[in-house]
Amino acid sequence: MSDHYDVTIIGAGISGLICANYLARAGKRVLLVEQNHQPGGNMSGFRRRGFYFDAGDQSFESLGIVFPILRELGLYDPADFTQLRYRMVSDDFDFYLDSIDGAEGALREAFPRETAIPEIFDEVRRVSRFLDENYDPGSFPLLNHFRLRHLLPAAKWLPPLRKWLTFRYREKISSRIADPSLRTWFTHIGYRRMPFLFFAGFWHIWINDYWYPNGGMQAFLNKLAASFEEHGGEIRYKTMVDHIDVDERSRRARAVVTAAGEEIAADQIVYSGDYKRFVGDILEERHFKPRFVKKIREADLTEEIFSVYLGLDMPPEELFGHVGTQHVFLFPNYDVIFPDERSPRDVHSRMWVALNVFHGENDDAAPEGKSTLVLQTYSSYRWENYWHNAGDSDERREEYTRFKREIANELIATAERLIPGLSERIEYLDAGTPLSLKRYTRNTDGSTGGWCYDDRVSPVYRSLGFNMFRTPFSNLHAAGHYALWPGGVISATLSGRMVANRVLGRRLLARMEQP
Ligand SMILES: Cc1cc2nc3c(=O)[nH]c(=O)nc-3n(C[C@H](O)[C@H](O)[C@H](O)COP(=O)(O)OP(=O)(O)OC[C@H]3O[C@@H](n4cnc5c(N)ncnc54)[C@H](O)[C@@H]3O)c2cc1C
Repeated sequence: MSDHYDVTIIGAGISGLICANYLARAGKRVLLVEQNHQPGGNMSGFRRRGFYFDAGDQSFESLGIVFPILRELGLYDPADFTQLRYRMVSDDFDFYLDSIDGAEGALREAFPRETAIPEIFDEVRRVSRFLDENYDPGSFPLLNHFRLRHLLPAAKWLPPLRKWLTFRYREKISSRIADPSLRTWFTHIGYRRMPFLFFAGFWHIWINDYWYPNGGMQAFLNKLAASFEEHGGEIRYKTMVDHIDVDERSRRARAVVTAAGEEIAADQIVYSGDYKRFVGDILEERHFKPRFVKKIREADLTEEIFSVYLGLDMPPEELFGHVGTQHVFLFPNYDVIFPDERSPRDVHSRMWVALNVFHGENDDAAPEGKSTLVLQTYSSYRWENYWHNAGDSDERREEYTRFKREIANELIATAERLIPGLSERIEYLDAGTPLSLKRYTRNTDGSTGGWCYDDRVSPVYRSLGFNMFRTPFSNLHAAGHYALWPGGVISATLSGRMVANRVLGRRLLARMEQP
């Protein structure tokens, strides 16, 4: 038996870091345990041969949640974040996303015969108004909305929200597009069976609310970790938690047990890792109701992503001349493919590709006169027999490394439509498959943002509720993107604050303090 802590938090992703910061500031003795060598989970970055890469998230949204929480922790300075600009490119259109009207105009010009486009964008504008009224990125309305005087004006949105929260409504409104391939694009672009609210919400946040922490994601996460330590918190990296030991008689969690067999006792424990592993692995299955276990087993997860990290022998000005902005969505066709284990061998060569470029926001992204580019698209963990790695293992075969390089070249070939000669300017190349993401974050199948949005299989739609912080043991809490719908950075961040409040015996959505 080693030390005893007030609170032990498993996982130093954004949710664990936020939770840890609140608890340390409240005077608790807190230990943060992380299996990786650095904080950040899905949001981490890495440096190779002088090039810096954001490994997972390339940016994130605030939606009236992330920045206010950072501000409450004394960790928000607007000068530390750059608002990003998106560009969309296909054979028919090429436009910057500066306003909904502009996007609508560009698509109408590209497809003059599609009379349904204005109708779709009228509805997108309504969602945008809803988000503007309720999720101002600069303030913290959501966190104060749980007062009646704020809730009443928001009640008018309930009827449209009911339809916006379905995929069916999205299908219905897109069905008016005449061209079949374009109809597919409008119906399916985004996450699989993504409800209309998210489809429209993405247009809103691409235009108004995507941010990059200057200096890179890892520097931002390191700052959160450092602030926790300055407030007396302790972090142990490279420490895998194997399971949680419980006292069945008192119905309380007792200690965290590491893979090396060390027991770390704590009054309260927060688990912020993969939820599928939580049920049955971290905590024995018999502690949960069988119906709940079944739901968690069956619940599908958000899409997996394949990333290609390129260090280029190309001055940043030249690269920026080609891409024009930080985020480009390049659509070689209007197919919307969600790869799975049965997808054909050439699936990635037909996928859309996101090109991500940060230089002005990160002076240290590449050596002088060189630049960094990250390409991403959806992929599948089990595809091609686990990417020729022959099974779900952390060991890597040579065949796997060769194969992922081949697939990286397919994304590079698509990106060359925008950056001619790209393949000849590559000085450093690495690629992250869903297997890499699983190894670095332990998220099942390398999934990216929590439960999937498919309204037929998501546990939220199957009435598990919006809040899964509670566990069978009163002093054991779950945080992170699985614990609070709908997942992603916002949910993870908010869950960190809500679970800290739960540990401290406060209201989950306690009113924000203005520092
Ligand atoms: C490529 C990519 C792009 C994305 N883009 C966006 C975006 O644009 N917008 C958005 O909102 N979201 C995005 N996301 C999702 C977002 O990054 C995640 O939802 C969010 O970071 C989750 O934070 P978390 O703390 O809940 O979990 P994680 O980041 O998964 O952190 C969990 C941590 O726990 C550690 N851990 C797990 N199990 C154990 C254990 N047993 N012992 C010790 N440590 C353990 C892991 O190593 C990890 O560090 C993206 C994700 C990816 C991968």
